Amino acid sequence: MTTEKSHLFYQSRQPRPFLERSEGIYHYDENGKRYIDGSSGAMVSNIGHSNPRVLEKMKAQMDRSTFGYRLHFRTHPSEDLAARVAARMPEGLDKVFFVSGGSEAVETAIKLARQYAVTQGEESRYKVISRLPSYHGATMGSLSVTGSPLFTGKFAPMFTEMPKIPAPTCYLDRDNLTEEERGIKYAEMLREKIEAEGPETVLAFLMEPVGGASTGALVAPDSYYTRVAEICREYGILLIYDEVMTGAGRTGKFLAAEHWGITPDIVALSKGFGAGYAPLGAVVARNDMVEALLDAGGFLHGFTYAGNPLACAAGLAVLDEMEEQDLIGNAARMGDVLKARLTGLMDRYPFIGDVRGKGLLLAFELVSDRDTMEVLPKEWNAHTELVELAYERGLIIYSRRTRGGYEGDHFLVCPPLIVNEEQIDEIMAILTDALDAFAANHDLPLVEEVSA
Ligand code: PLP
Repeated sequence: MTTEKSHLFYQSRQPRPFLERSEGIYHYDENGKRYIDGSSGAMVSNIGHSNPRVLEKMKAQMDRSTFGYRLHFRTHPSEDLAARVAARMPEGLDKVFFVSGGSEAVETAIKLARQYAVTQGEESRYKVISRLPSYHGATMGSLSVTGSPLFTGKFAPMFTEMPKIPAPTCYLDRDNLTEEERGIKYAEMLREKIEAEGPETVLAFLMEPVGGASTGALVAPDSYYTRVAEICREYGILLIYDEVMTGAGRTGKFLAAEHWGITPDIVALSKGFGAGYAPLGAVVARNDMVEALLDAGGFLHGFTYAGNPLACAAGLAVLDEMEEQDLIGNAARMGDVLKARLTGLMDRYPFIGDVRGKGLLLAFELVSDRDTMEVLPKEWNAHTELVELAYERGLIIYSRRTRGGYEGDHFLVCPPLIVNEEQIDEIMAILTDALDAFAANHDLPLVEEVSA
């Protein structure tokens, strides 16, 4: 591994090898070692790496133009991509605003909601209720709605903390309710919060339909989604779906919202939308909201790179690939296969407490006691250790020890949507080997051999 001094800095000092090349679901480092990208980076590379057709289309756009400022020109890639995105949205959601990433998408969504409320004469509405835990981005505005004391705590005096309700962590509940009742119980916490805050002050409710890194692919009971939407409608509160991670096919539908037939007022997209080929995100909003805003003088918001033609050409090519190769269907099919295989690991490892998720947004959680869901000792740093054991063996997975609401080590297994069954076999073989090593390191007993 190259260890010479670097002038770059990121979150930690952890040294990593140089990336030499990437293809399909694989990365290769400077020493020729192969890694399966079992987390699509940070749940980004939905169509896999170095797709030649996407690169071809990007090159063609590069030859034409890489930048034309939106106040000076319209561009075909941005117009075409907006139309294609609108066509994939639920009825009525057909105005698109491009951004360069997830945090920008969330910032844009909440500013759009606020400015719309003002145009409606509802200036008292400014609170955006969100959930704990949750992750909505790293910028100050997105931190205000992010439910993660780890990421928000040190900056708290610098922004207005928005109200939070507990995320629907039903799998931790040991009550006698049915799943349906639990969904309603958590959704009703939104009503209680709205009432406590004063309904006239509440602007929006923001949620990840399937949790990302914050809760590890947390899916709520069906009743949660419908009741939350009903409560928002009842109080005239905008429903914002942060589909930065779930959108663009990751859960087996273009939007996760489609699983429950929900039409949010605003949707935020990024990650799989640019799929690692370009920094790209989008906010899609109700037509009437945007029209009202434009009638009132326009949206007081924008980023220089918004609608960049090269990024939009990449987005179009990614969408073409997704549609032509039926990658969303593959995400649903392979998601079922991978989820069954991960669930099978519970027969061997008593310290896997839960397997959850939808499509290829899947996670498992480690515990010290499956019955009580007691977490592993914090000082084990299991979330880091298992990731490193897998990395050494050539498999990349993504983990977090959640802080806020509850604590637990969860691991996202989210390969690109092009993954096939043989590659799932490869993922499972390495993962099993890494889990064996983890168990041996901590003298954790195994149950029995599994067919993994
Ligand atoms: N929203 C969700 C649900 C995310 O998962 C993330 C990133 O992980 C973001 C927003 C922020 O996106 P970005 O890191 O591209 O700014």
